[in-house]
Amino acid sequence: MAATRLTIDLSRQEPVPPAGVEAALALLGSGKMHRYGETGGVPSEVSALEAEFAQQLGTRYAVAMNSCGSTMFVALRAAGVRPGDAVLCNGFTLAPVPGAIVHAGARPVLVEVTEDCTIDLDDLARKAQASGARTLLLSHMRGHVCDMRRLTAVCAVYGVQLIEDCAHTMGAGWDGRATGTWGRAGCFSLQSYKHANSGEGGLLATDDDDIAAQAILLSGSYMFYGAHQVRPADAVFERWKYDTPNFSLRMSNLAAAVARPQLGALLADRCQRWNQRYHWLADALAAVPQLRLPLRPPQEQFVASSMQFGLVDLTLARRQAFVAGCAERGLHIKWFGADEPVGFTSVWQHWRYLGPPQPLPQTERVLSALCDMRLPLALTQADCVAIAQVMAEAMAAACRLQA
Ligand SMILES: *Cc1c(COP(=O)(O)O)cnc(C)c1O
Repeated sequence: MAATRLTIDLSRQEPVPPAGVEAALALLGSGKMHRYGETGGVPSEVSALEAEFAQQLGTRYAVAMNSCGSTMFVALRAAGVRPGDAVLCNGFTLAPVPGAIVHAGARPVLVEVTEDCTIDLDDLARKAQASGARTLLLSHMRGHVCDMRRLTAVCAVYGVQLIEDCAHTMGAGWDGRATGTWGRAGCFSLQSYKHANSGEGGLLATDDDDIAAQAILLSGSYMFYGAHQVRPADAVFERWKYDTPNFSLRMSNLAAAVARPQLGALLADRCQRWNQRYHWLADALAAVPQLRLPLRPPQEQFVASSMQFGLVDLTLARRQAFVAGCAERGLHIKWFGADEPVGFTSVWQHWRYLGPPQPLPQTERVLSALCDMRLPLALTQADCVAIAQVMAEAMAAACRLQA
């Protein structure tokens, strides 16, 4: 039987909607791309985006920056993290997360993850106690949300403040409460592969006056903080403005103009369509017993813009053969078990700048079997069935290898 060959492009990004294209063109014509340009009192695109995002999420403040990585760095600093401090984070996350901790001069303390791709709450308690860390930068990696009630209880016991990395969870929540609102600050990404696409961009959401004022100053407001529509009172800025450096991490009006029409109804529609594709593919993959999907409890209101699955009970050679067999058939899935970092799949063993290795035997086991693929909205139900068919073929071929 001839092998199935796919021509589906999983790297496809979501286009900017027409309203974003029009706003961008108008802005380019005006030349007013800098958010603090003299606007004669008209709110800038960035300021409007902040107000709209805060309203959508239900927080008092949002501060826009040039990336989610910048918002995480700024959130840590504004939350009082200082050079040399220990900061907890999950061992399974994307490189900008430990990067933000190191940027703040702090030391990442890695916490194990479970086979359901969420932080291991027992190990979190152990590491909080052993390290004395007072801050957790929690990554909802690939959109998997842990039991947030239990997590906040563990943080309370050890006096750990929470900052959320919501790069993959815009539109998601736990038990009716949005991610990004459980701790002192939530950090969102507008990078092209996240849920709203402005190329690059980040949004820091918070209810905290002091974090919001510092974030505005740290992001590089040149004392134009009065130009922010959502911001704390002047008295809060008085507390910080002489002691807070300007790190020039601003978002441009161009990024905000293309992002604004992607919030609200369009975001909700995209989230629903991502989950539809996830269910189509999950249903079709039920026929391949060697692929295990993470459990998703009913309280998890996830947005599945990507899918992860574990390769169950397979030797290393068979895992390699499965991934290679998919690629030969035109399906380019990512695998976190490779020796060398490729694409977006660097894992904690590759981050040698963290210093002495931090053994994470459970995370190592999970990641050595974990695969990852995007779910572009252009996928049809027939595409999902064809993808599952290719995986079934590649798995059958891998299982014919000598063990
Ligand atoms: C993309 C991503 C980030 C960083 O976002 P940038 O906007 O690219 O800085 C952080 N955490 C996770 C889990 C991500 O996937």
